[in-house]
Amino acid sequence: MAHGEDDSGTPHSSASHGSTPRGGGDARSAESAKPARSARSASGVRQGNVRRVLDALRLDGPSSQAALARRTQLSPATVNAIVKTLRADGVAEVRPVNGRESLVALVASHAAVVAVQVNVAAMRAALFDFGGRVRLDACVPLQGEGGSPALVVDMVRSLTAEAGLGPRDFAGVAVGMQAPLARATGAVASWARLQFPEWTDLPVAKTLEDDLGIPVIAENDANLAALAEWTWGAGQGAADFLYVMCAAGVGGGLVIDGRIYRGGDGLAGEIGHIVLEPGGPVCFCGSRGCLTTFVSERSILLALEASGSSRGSLREVVDGARRGDPACRRVLYEAGRHLGRAFASTAKLMAPSVIAVGGTLSEAGALVFDGIQSSVEMHSLRAVSPSIRVCPARLGDDATLFGGVAAVLAETGQGVSTLPAWSKPSKAARQPQIIRDLNSRD
Ligand SMILES: [Zn+2]
Repeated sequence: MAHGEDDSGTPHSSASHGSTPRGGGDARSAESAKPARSARSASGVRQGNVRRVLDALRLDGPSSQAALARRTQLSPATVNAIVKTLRADGVAEVRPVNGRESLVALVASHAAVVAVQVNVAAMRAALFDFGGRVRLDACVPLQGEGGSPALVVDMVRSLTAEAGLGPRDFAGVAVGMQAPLARATGAVASWARLQFPEWTDLPVAKTLEDDLGIPVIAENDANLAALAEWTWGAGQGAADFLYVMCAAGVGGGLVIDGRIYRGGDGLAGEIGHIVLEPGGPVCFCGSRGCLTTFVSERSILLALEASGSSRGSLREVVDGARRGDPACRRVLYEAGRHLGRAFASTAKLMAPSVIAVGGTLSEAGALVFDGIQSSVEMHSLRAVSPSIRVCPARLGDDATLFGGVAAVLAETGQGVSTLPAWSKPSKAARQPQIIRDLNSRD
């Protein structure tokens, strides 16, 4: 999580996440310059100091006043005065920890979060305003070009305006991209950029942060969904958790010890590109026989076509299977078998205690899960297979958005345990509001 604004109100950006505080020397000179300034600039300095304390609390989580003074390079007396004001405004609270120490913490109800999901075919966003207890949803249909930073900025601004909130009311914005993000650059990985031409070589978080003036987290969508399922859904309580999203494509996310596991270049969890058949069909990643080439929507539709039957979408195949169409049932069962083989390989390496499958494919229920189970049993190590639980994901299409909320709150030290109950995901899907005027600007 990077900073939002500097003291002059100018958008301040940083590609680093949860790293160093803003320059301490800057803070010192601002304090010492105080007596010489006019009343107006003194008030500006005060606001800047308040901002420093808020940033420190957002980055470090609950902190003692002594730690805040060290972090912000402000005097203990200044920190004490600011904490008093923040408490009086209901922005922060002081929590006793033991007899000797108490910690200052942000009150979660004053932090709003916007979570955005950027897919090839649509963008969705939801604003969670914990103070006003509002959740606003928006959706922009796309023509398969993966949106653009300008569209995301429009969407976020439109939601914040509707909620009557300014940049300072936000804990952050989380963006889940339907593409892997390279850890070194923060940009869409080079081999996936064809699907997101407007984002080529752009560091996603920094680009949006520069425009919005709100701290932005960017993450692969399946990683966020994995975090949400681990926090509220099928992976609750699991020490090691694998989430696999099977819809148009196949995405995966790993949560290990409560954190998204990204690996060396941020590409960990790409289970869709585990090779099942070295001589299989060519995959868009450049390899052959990846899991994706057997269980993506397109692959399943192609497999069905070979039977002389034709459907327009994976959902239609699932519906056909429910109505008893034998070819639809067969291709879905075989998709499950392929998934099970990939899970068996994964299990040998990391032995996750729970694997959750989300996306349209998982809606086929027992048909797919029977296929998965038979492969897992056939190909796993005997000692490993009985201990893995493979189950449907629980949060549906909202998983990535809720993962964004969880990620922002984790970054800001607020923790999802402080979320009000209304804001937590439920199984009942919400219907997002369609914003058409944004789309027409494209
Ligand atoms: Zn591949």
